[in-house]
Amino acid sequence: MASLYEIPIEKLNGIGGKRVRLFNKLGIVSIGDLIRYYPRTYENWSEITCISDITVGETCCIKATLDLPVASKMLPSGLIISTSTISDETGTLKLVFFNNKYISSMLKKGKEYLFYGKITESMGFPQMVSPIFQNEDSVVPIHPIYGQTAGLTSRTIESAVKKALEILPAQITDTIPEDIRTKYDLMGMREAIVKIHFPENSAEIESAKRRLIFEELLVLMLGLSSMKKETNSTDITITKNYTDEFVSMLPFKLTNAQQKAIDVCISDMMTGSHAMNRLVQGDVGSGKTMVAAAVAYTCIKNGYQAAMMAPTEILAKQHYENFQKLFEGTDVKVRLLTGSTTQKQKREILDFLESGYINFVVGTHALISENVEFKNLGIVITDEQHRFGVRQRSNLQEKGTNPHLLVMSATPIPRTLALMIYGDLDISVIDELPPGRQKVDTFFIDSSIRERAYNFLKKNIDEGRQCYIVCPAVEHTDGGLRGVEEYAEDIAKNDFKNYTVGVLHGQMKAAEKEAVMNDFIEGKISVLVSTTVIEVGVDVPNSTIMMIENAERFGLSQLHQLRGRVGRGKYKSYCILVSDAKGEDAIYRMKVLCSTNNGFKIADEDLKLRGPGDFFGSRQHGLPELKIADFMEDIDILRDAQAVCGSIIPDYMNPENSDYKGLRAEVRQLFTNVGNQLIN
Ligand code: ADP
Ligand code: MG
Repeated sequence: MASLYEIPIEKLNGIGGKRVRLFNKLGIVSIGDLIRYYPRTYENWSEITCISDITVGETCCIKATLDLPVASKMLPSGLIISTSTISDETGTLKLVFFNNKYISSMLKKGKEYLFYGKITESMGFPQMVSPIFQNEDSVVPIHPIYGQTAGLTSRTIESAVKKALEILPAQITDTIPEDIRTKYDLMGMREAIVKIHFPENSAEIESAKRRLIFEELLVLMLGLSSMKKETNSTDITITKNYTDEFVSMLPFKLTNAQQKAIDVCISDMMTGSHAMNRLVQGDVGSGKTMVAAAVAYTCIKNGYQAAMMAPTEILAKQHYENFQKLFEGTDVKVRLLTGSTTQKQKREILDFLESGYINFVVGTHALISENVEFKNLGIVITDEQHRFGVRQRSNLQEKGTNPHLLVMSATPIPRTLALMIYGDLDISVIDELPPGRQKVDTFFIDSSIRERAYNFLKKNIDEGRQCYIVCPAVEHTDGGLRGVEEYAEDIAKNDFKNYTVGVLHGQMKAAEKEAVMNDFIEGKISVLVSTTVIEVGVDVPNSTIMMIENAERFGLSQLHQLRGRVGRGKYKSYCILVSDAKGEDAIYRMKVLCSTNNGFKIADEDLKLRGPGDFFGSRQHGLPELKIADFMEDIDILRDAQAVCGSIIPDYMNPENSDYKGLRAEVRQLFTNVGNQLIN
């Protein structure tokens, strides 16, 4: 099978020139690709529906007799409409065909046919439009239907697949070894491939699918797992737990969930010779930063360095300032390293990191640049992991010799997806918010009552609070969106002329951003008009209103993140979603948001609405596109595949072991499109 990926489809009879390009357009380059181009659905002639049981909107197969000869007429527009009626024992149904001159000679009155097509409604009556039909004796019960492209029909693809299957050797080595197939009751590979294209009944489709889904998920898990280090053993020894000492420096008590997460991390680091590899997931505001700080503290007190990477400068700086305050008067020396650190400072920091004088560095991607070296890096922490690719975290890890790893994510990822993306990590969940937090009340309004919303903001500002207004675009767009600067200028002159208004967006210079953020933190700015640069992590507890313009432009998880910027202190907080969108999807999103503050529920909804690719933004989620598996629906198979992956990975990684040659080829194949992410 593996070798079929090396035979171009031109080698098939009847496929050349233009056709080749069309196949390529569908991503089919080799015979192997063609065989793996599974049908999107099937035309099922094996299940006959009685006319009395038809449902408008559904596609079905009807066995019926033609009552009338087909009558055709041409409309002034030149369109030819042909009609007839058919009957079975339960009723009659109208048939309609468009622009088919030959139809009257193909269908004969009084003869019985099988008709396959979609039921629609016209003037209150059901009808079948442009059905395909055949005589019962010539029926192939199930036809595959493939994803098509202009100029390449499903039937053409079908006949190409047929030819390709003819050259599939009778004996092929199954990608999945026999013992695993037996254990999980999986169909053999050759049979599954033949049956997925040309099944004889629905049961065969199901079995073939299950086998191929299993295989695809196993291939995915193997691909992801082989990216992580082969051995995870470490020489870093943490012998003493300093959490109590850390807690005594805090102005508040840790929540039970925070305490639990910290305990698990420390015990990961103290047991045996394996490095910690843990993902801590917690909703926005659950206090993940303190978990990171506590874990880093113990590591540092045991004589090691700690590094924490955040996705934006604003966030990195915020962490840095927090930690500086927190660790004042201790032997923890914190420094900040980002893209806008001056050369001079940078040189100093690099020296101090190499000599070990600095034992806690916080920063952005700048931390993974080549010239950063550590004396004895003990732990790597990444904040808001969903913003990073799988590769970036390992790049930072490679700065040390198998340091411990703590990954934090505020986009609560549905368990299934977490298993996939972080298949190599242990997972902890912080399922509790610090005490006193109130639900952020969320409202959905249209722009006609924006004034009222502004008045509400002013009332809160008058009480000493601060507000955010988020706009989707930096600059004015053709779509009519006002850019942040224009928006801020406008409200500063009009509605908020008696208040201080600030602007923040990603295109500003780092120093400008910093100045604005500082003013906001110090309360010198009452209304901060911003793009989504404030989406992650920003923590200003005095701000109580998050107003989001053109809320329909944002995904659910993103809106939830934005909302998470308020409700972080003791004050009652609000989120106001402004949108004039009429689309069902947009309105549904607003409703979900108004109805719950639970990030896990929201993430589930988001995933259902958007699928995994979009869910993580277009960026580097590191997941290849799947052909047949759907991880929301195939969760049980995913679990089995994960178990198998765990048990075979050592042998799989051994290139001498020929049992997994087929699987290795499939992994290469599946990951070709995301290759860049794996390499850089
Ligand atoms: P996130 O999980 O979103 O990263 P943060 O770590 O930024 O949350 O914490 C949100 C806010 O809650 C911060 O202002 C932090 O100081 C505060 N906080 C964290 N833990 C506690 C606690 N146990 N009790 C009270 N406040 C806390
Ligand atoms: Mg955070």
